[in-house]
Amino acid sequence: ATLSIQAELLETKAQLHDKQIVFDNILEGTMAGYWDWMIQEETEYLSPTFKQMFGYEDHELENSPLTWQRLIHPDDLPGVFEIFNKHVATKGAYPYDCEVRYFHKDGSIVWVFCRGKVIEWDEQGQPVRMVGSHVDITKLKQVERLENYNRLLEQKNSELEQFAYVASHDLQEPLRTITSFVEIFAEDHLDKLDAEGQRQLNYITQAAGRMSDLVKDLLDYSRLGKDRYLTDVDLKKVVNDIIKDIAKNIEESKVLLNVDALPTIRAYPHEIRVLFQNLLTNAIKFNNPDERPVVNITFAEEEKHWVFRVKDNGIGIAPKHQERIFVIFQRLHNQSVYEGTGIGLAQCKKIVELHRGEIGVVSEKGAGSTFFFTIPK
Ligand code: ADP
Repeated sequence: ATLSIQAELLETKAQLHDKQIVFDNILEGTMAGYWDWMIQEETEYLSPTFKQMFGYEDHELENSPLTWQRLIHPDDLPGVFEIFNKHVATKGAYPYDCEVRYFHKDGSIVWVFCRGKVIEWDEQGQPVRMVGSHVDITKLKQVERLENYNRLLEQKNSELEQFAYVASHDLQEPLRTITSFVEIFAEDHLDKLDAEGQRQLNYITQAAGRMSDLVKDLLDYSRLGKDRYLTDVDLKKVVNDIIKDIAKNIEESKVLLNVDALPTIRAYPHEIRVLFQNLLTNAIKFNNPDERPVVNITFAEEEKHWVFRVKDNGIGIAPKHQERIFVIFQRLHNQSVYEGTGIGLAQCKKIVELHRGEIGVVSEKGAGSTFFFTIPK
């Protein structure tokens, strides 16, 4: 009988040893830390992985509850005790789970998910022994922070658009009043004004008109994408329709227009039309007075997206301005040289981004421009 008991004991011992190895390997493999706290004796075993998580060798940190209480971020310590007290008061029903910050040896913050449990109580119901694990969640926290930041950005963005929409919408009304009264005033009084007065009234009329244009453009811009719906868009037809609409412009400029046999793509139909129209009219507008304008619209199919290019032989854009031109109301020319409000490319950028694509330009001053954009498939 003793023999078999001994054999059993040996067997149990071997199994225990086996379990210990598995356990150690799990700790090593997952880089999780393990702690075992004898609460009343005030001693605590801290696994080597526990210490590694904060940049220490096993021998560098004492196995004591004071160790983690010193390493933890002081702002997070009270919360830990609060959860611990609840866990104890509810005899373990309230889980001991917390996300806390520790200081790494190099001074950086390590976010830790700490989960523990009292596994022994004395006769008075006081906790005797508690064990738990530490998992490094710093990366998770970083992702979480980025996601929060993204959410905030998106929210701010939509607030800003809402603001632009409301502002431009509400500005239209008083502007209309100004424009119509300036008109009435001019009709009634222009002949009674001297040359200086007429000149001034002319400025007012022009400025009010210009402001109306800007406000209208801003409203259009903020409306872009509001009622968008995704569908199959035949770009051949889109570009043909645009060409019909701007036929007069094409004729007057004598532009030589070459358009690839464009594909049908999944896109927002109204927006995609505005995009092509803006790029094409710009390509014609910013032409070189000494040369016959030539505009090529081409495309390439890549694995994940389409690339479209609108190339002209016009005045070109110096590299230092190439980012600025996509910003709303930013123009490189005086109104008297080339007409416009500076909204076209901002619209293009917004439209391409609504499609989750990218837009840019390749150009040199005086050497034509190639605007390109991608639309994901
Ligand atoms: P707008 O055409 O009303 O001025 P855009 O936003 O369409 O406004 O363009 C912004 C500026 O970018 C233009 O004023 C012009 O200076 C420059 N630009 C746009 N397209 C071209 C082009 N094809 N060639 C040269 N410059 C261009």
